[in-house]
Amino acid sequence: MAAVKRDYYEVLAVQKTSTGDEIKKSFRKEAFKYHPDRNPGDKAAEERFKEITEAYDVLSDEQKRKLYDQYGHAGLEGQGMRPPEDIFEQFQDLFADFFGSGFGGGGGGGGRGGGRGRGQPRVQPGRDLRAGVRISLREAVFGTKRDVSVVFPAQCASCNGSGAAKGSQPVTCRGCKGQGQVTQGSMGFMIAMPCPECGGAGKVINKPCGDCRGRGEVRSEKKVKVSIPAGIDHGQAIRVAGHGEPAPNGGPAGNLLVVMEVEQDTKFQREGNDLLVEVPVAFHTAALGGTAALSNLDGTAVTVTIPAGTQPNTAFTLEGIGVPFVDGGGRGNLVAVARVEVPRRMSAQARQALEEFAKALNASDA
Ligand SMILES: [Zn+2]
Ligand SMILES: [Zn+2]
Repeated sequence: MAAVKRDYYEVLAVQKTSTGDEIKKSFRKEAFKYHPDRNPGDKAAEERFKEITEAYDVLSDEQKRKLYDQYGHAGLEGQGMRPPEDIFEQFQDLFADFFGSGFGGGGGGGGRGGGRGRGQPRVQPGRDLRAGVRISLREAVFGTKRDVSVVFPAQCASCNGSGAAKGSQPVTCRGCKGQGQVTQGSMGFMIAMPCPECGGAGKVINKPCGDCRGRGEVRSEKKVKVSIPAGIDHGQAIRVAGHGEPAPNGGPAGNLLVVMEVEQDTKFQREGNDLLVEVPVAFHTAALGGTAALSNLDGTAVTVTIPAGTQPNTAFTLEGIGVPFVDGGGRGNLVAVARVEVPRRMSAQARQALEEFAKALNASDA
């Protein structure tokens, strides 16, 4: 603290004639600027912050302000200044709109107690859980429902999370006297290391709880019904709100993220919202034109028109019967790729006809 105290009015950038409201307003502005949560590790800001809270402690109190006006700093000696922490407890409502939900509820870091209000535990939501689910391509394209089993750590009910057997308590570790770490001298250096007796916890459990073997946590399992929308793709996740881990202090539970693992299909391949499939085309149909039939992923019969002179691997796009867009609004296309099939066996009659065809082809070539 500075040897010579600055004038409180100067500290709060107000006038001797300023009203209580003006002083309050200025205090909020200044304190917000120099608050330790906003200036982590900044010693100068911390000093400044103390100075501001001290000034406000005096100027916001009619009696103290009168004494100060009359006698200066000397007038307040023996008055007992409230420490900055207490000022913050008292005036936390002033800061509510700066720091979100009450004081100490906001982000910040430090945790140094520079002004965090106590008695208002930070409401922490439970952690998110992830689960994978394997579905077929058909299920991904047309949607499905699944019971997803989720394993999560839950506080052991037998010991309320302490890890100690009923009727006993964890006791302070004798190896480190509760510090969690021990120092060891070696070649003139002192090295701090986690206490080997308690593993750094500072406490040891003499009689471990039988249900959680002293861990304080048990693995719990639940089944969650998950609706998988049509059109979902491999690697995409569905967020099921409120089905994550329970919150430790009565806060909202986390979310469950169900990640899709879509199996490869033997016939259909997905490309974005298009479905690719081969369509067998008889070799004479490819030459003369006609139709080819296939069944779509959902089993519906699809007829493909094959023009004369179709080459192998020609792709035919059939619009609007592919993969539905997961956010609604239509479907992609079905792309049928011609697989021209050459007959492996032929009747004598067919062979003869084909030989005639070859002769005719040769004749027209000549
Ligand atoms: Zn220990
Ligand atoms: Zn237990």
